[in-house]
Amino acid sequence: SITLDDVTKRFGESGDAVVAVDDVSLDIEDGEFVVFVGPSGSGKSTLMRIVAGLETQSEGDVFIGDALVNQLGPRARDVAMVFQNYALYPNMTVEENMSFGLKMSTDLSEAEIEAQVTEAAEMMGIGNLLDNTPGELSGGQQQRVALGRAIVRDPNVFLMDEPLSNLDAKLRTTMRTEINRLQNDLGVTTLYVTHDQTEAMTMGDRLVVLNYGELQQVGTPLECFYRPANRFVAGFIGSPS
Ligand code: ATP
Ligand code: MG
Repeated sequence: SITLDDVTKRFGESGDAVVAVDDVSLDIEDGEFVVFVGPSGSGKSTLMRIVAGLETQSEGDVFIGDALVNQLGPRARDVAMVFQNYALYPNMTVEENMSFGLKMSTDLSEAEIEAQVTEAAEMMGIGNLLDNTPGELSGGQQQRVALGRAIVRDPNVFLMDEPLSNLDAKLRTTMRTEINRLQNDLGVTTLYVTHDQTEAMTMGDRLVVLNYGELQQVGTPLECFYRPANRFVAGFIGSPS
């Protein structure tokens, strides 16, 4: 599970600080797929980075499982992040991209790492691309590498920040299904950021709706759609027609 307890993040000097995340409290169950939605600047990425340990909250506590992780860096948190731009190393092969994190963080043998990378690559349908570099791959294939790199580490938590926004509409639909299938198979707790209404409504067990860093509603997609907590949620989740 993941618990956020009164988490606030301010950027800048106290006088004119930006409150990126404003007193957010939230409980996420093991194996849950939670989608974070909200307009640009509503604090979605900041929240992901706080959970990942890439950013330190100004106030509040973050728990992963029963452990208070406030003081832990990204490596110790056992989370895997997938970003919008995939952040693959351009000069490394697919195999090297996928094994890099494991080599840094475990003392598995070369052979064990290779076996895990091969398995993850096959799971993502890129087993034939291990010797290619990212520049030789399509956007969708790069996306699969990024996902494969995340699963190969066998993390407790996936954090995905707009992972499909660089893909065309058709591929996005395919990858949505694949991510849901993958998450279901692996049962990994997943926090997923999107501003795509369809992704929000179809992918998540629950939605977390944010505006100006504040939690507006937490509920199933249908709850948010049919019983919006306020006008903002109604306007944001409801159909625009
Ligand atoms: P988008 O949908 O555009 O990605 P977001 O919901 O992910 O937006 P954040 O990136 O979390 O929003 O930003 C929340 C607020 O915090 C914004 O006002 C942003 O300008 C501010 N912010 C984020 N990172 C920093 C930073 N490193 N320094 C200063 N301000 C920041
Ligand atoms: Mg963002």
